[in-house]
Amino acid sequence: MDYEIVIGLEVHLQLNTKSKVFCGCSTNFGSAPNTQVCPVCLGFPGSLPVLNRRALELGAKVSIALNCQIAEKIRFDRKNYFYPDLPKDYQISQFDQPLAQHGILTIITGEAEKNIRIRRVHLEEDTGKLFHQKDSSLIDFNRCGIPLLEIVSEPDMNSPEEAYLYLTALKSILEYIDVSDCNMEEGSLRCDANISLRKKADKELGTKTEIKNMNSFKGVKAALEYETKRQMDLLEDGKRIAQETRLYNTEKGVTEPMRSKEEAHDYRYFPEPDLAPFNFEKSFLKAIERDIPELPEPKKNRFIKDYLLSGYDAGIIVSDKNTADYFEKCASLYSNPKTIANWLIGDISAYMKDNNVSIKDLNLKESYLSGMLKMIDNGVITGKIAKTLLIEAIQTGKDPEKLVKENGLEQISDVKLLEAATSQVIAENPKSTEDFKNGKDNAIMFLMGKVMQKTKGRANPNKVNEMLREKLKGAR
Ligand code: ADP
Ligand code: MG
Ligand code: ZN
Repeated sequence: MDYEIVIGLEVHLQLNTKSKVFCGCSTNFGSAPNTQVCPVCLGFPGSLPVLNRRALELGAKVSIALNCQIAEKIRFDRKNYFYPDLPKDYQISQFDQPLAQHGILTIITGEAEKNIRIRRVHLEEDTGKLFHQKDSSLIDFNRCGIPLLEIVSEPDMNSPEEAYLYLTALKSILEYIDVSDCNMEEGSLRCDANISLRKKADKELGTKTEIKNMNSFKGVKAALEYETKRQMDLLEDGKRIAQETRLYNTEKGVTEPMRSKEEAHDYRYFPEPDLAPFNFEKSFLKAIERDIPELPEPKKNRFIKDYLLSGYDAGIIVSDKNTADYFEKCASLYSNPKTIANWLIGDISAYMKDNNVSIKDLNLKESYLSGMLKMIDNGVITGKIAKTLLIEAIQTGKDPEKLVKENGLEQISDVKLLEAATSQVIAENPKSTEDFKNGKDNAIMFLMGKVMQKTKGRANPNKVNEMLREKLKGAR
């Protein structure tokens, strides 16, 4: 059977405010349990919520960045349910009048662009955190009342890969506009994934399951891949999909049932009487709009146009704002942007990945990288030396130019020195010399490698190549 996969994502984002959304308690992560609480977030009778202006600003910022229509009127609702981590027995959230609706997020699938519609964005408060032990449970209310933004997509993604791309594109935008640290391990960004299958010809959507408990984007993708297969197998066997919430078991790599739709809550939403509805002033929204920097998509297009980068290179560089800024600074100091991109995407990215650091943590000033690239162009150092020089510059925080002088890393172009090295290598490697004689051209590469070894990577590779060929020509 030819099935279509249908996926919609619900993302909860912790906004990076200093204080909670309806009281003045700190939002600091990792403090001792129950030290950041007050009558409001503990739900004491008679306490009253006051909306955090900053949380609202950040929520509006996200909404604008996701091309949403912002509500004329803002209202909060109570979502009623009982659970130990929710001391008020209701969560202040937004129901039928969310902060914003009808947005668009563009993802790049292969070479094509695809628009994923955003259904709604709303502001709400987080719950506390339970720690289940052997015979008891502990509760930390520090997280109660931390501002969350829920971002709900339409079911517009058609593969686990597209879901992954949506999440990375979303995270990139959220980081650009600086509204959250987007740290999945600390729970600043959480994702529930809804997935169903349907036959290609079907008009109606199939029955969905909702998967919770994923703590990385890769985990979301893996869970969706597993769930696709599970649903497919059931449908192939002529069975029905039960509408239910499932948990992803990271260790086993499977989804397991958590609760069925029959157990679903009736939240009995009603307007929050302690927070009066209000309208945004135009100037308030205008100010927020002005505060939004150039976003990844337009930046990418500009990089392609202004710096003649490939779409692929530009896409990687703009995915992180600091890397994009770094690139532009370098491009103002050094004239070949493509070379800068190659180093950023190649050796520098590899170093950051291996050491789990970001470009901001690197001790490599923009002037250092561009200076090093100029040294290569001017024949001061070889490309080979540059690779090790780069790492040393990053690790010591020193200017590569200084390091070249200090450590005598200049390229050797001196004919006498190179003559000596090549002759010696030819004498020491009769086998390769013989191979070259018999027409194996790549034996030259081996011999060049040897010369490089002898000169610690400093020999001018073009000169060495020329010299070796000249010397071996007679032999051939
Ligand atoms: P619920 O009431 O169960 O939370 P909603 O209709 O509010 O469901 O949708 C929640 C999320 O599930 C949204 O992101 C939406 O795009 C997605 N979704 C809804 N129906 C389906 C479906 N049949 N298959 C996949 N995703 C779906
Ligand atoms: Mg849901
Ligand atoms: Zn409080």
